[in-house]
Parts: sequence; structure tokens; C-alpha cells
Amino acid sequence: MAKKVMGIAGKRLFENVFVCMSCHAKMRTTMDKVKRRKIKCRKCGSKDLRPKAKERRGAKT
Ligand SMILES: [Zn+2]
Repeated sequence: MAKKVMGIAGKRLFENVFVCMSCHAKMRTTMDKVKRRKIKCRKCGSKDLRPKAKERRGAKT
């Protein structure tokens, strides 16, 4: 049961978080905006973002 809740909470926490490929800054936005390239890193201005969720695979924290 706890596992199921964790999965939902984890998805919620990470599904709209993206990480800059250049400087690894995190930002919260939507997949739609990233796909349309409407979003850019506020630190370095890069438009290369990846979903934060992918980082969690295999990571325990
Ligand atoms: Zn950046």
C-alpha cells in the first residue's frame, strides 16, 4: 500500500519538473511548454531540458 502511494506522490512531485541539460537547474513547467520550446532555463537560457522523472530510475532517494 505504501508503495502505491509513493508512486503516485512521486509522479506528482516529478512529472512537471524538468532539468536543464547544460547547468542542471530544475524548473517546474509542463511537458507541453517544453515540447513547444516555450520554456528556457532561467540560469543559462538553454532550451535543452529533460524530464526530472527519468533521474529517479534506480535512485533510492
Ligand atoms: Zn541551464
